[in-house]
Amino acid sequence: MNDFIEEVLLTNEQIVEIADKLGKQITKDYEGKKPLLIGLLKGSVPFMAELIKHIDMEMEMDFMQATSYVGTHSSGTVTITKDTNIPVKGRHVIIVEDIVDSGLTIREVVNLLKDRHVASVKVATLLDKPDGRTVDNVFPDYVGQEIPGKFVVGFGLDYNDLYRNLPYVGVLKKSVYEKK
Ligand code: 5GP
Repeated sequence: MNDFIEEVLLTNEQIVEIADKLGKQITKDYEGKKPLLIGLLKGSVPFMAELIKHIDMEMEMDFMQATSYVGTHSSGTVTITKDTNIPVKGRHVIIVEDIVDSGLTIREVVNLLKDRHVASVKVATLLDKPDGRTVDNVFPDYVGQEIPGKFVVGFGLDYNDLYRNLPYVGVLKKSVYEKK
């Protein structure tokens, strides 16, 4: 464990087990449907890479970038800063996220995809912080692990764009913020 981490919440082995479980479930649920997985940049990249190894069917993958933050504060509105290349109309879409917190990002991306007339849209997330929810009726369909309302990094999750490369998910030590 790195010295800036207070506690490991998910080891790499546990993340692989989660991806295996969710991938098998998706394979079953989408039989005959060729789903389009859309990862939200940048945090979803490691989880997407692991998850697709466990989906045993024809599928496609694309990415979007959505941001609700200006500086360090949520602006309350989500802006799409990178859109998909693959047309989504009529597709069975699974949005892939690293973590769902307030639910704002997911709500906006789901609404955008519905406006574009997808056949269906569901959400797969490695982590869920239900205590952080400020938006009503946002329930991810595939959840790897529910976690408490602590700030976590690793496996795609960053602090100031650092720590995304950790192979596990851990709670960042408070001293890392305090010294900044
Ligand atoms: P939401 O719109 O659900 O509040 O935002 C989800 C996004 O907030 C995630 O994709 C992630 O970028 C960020 N986020 C929420 N909680 C955490 C956390 O504990 N650690 C990190 N690194 N990012 C988080």
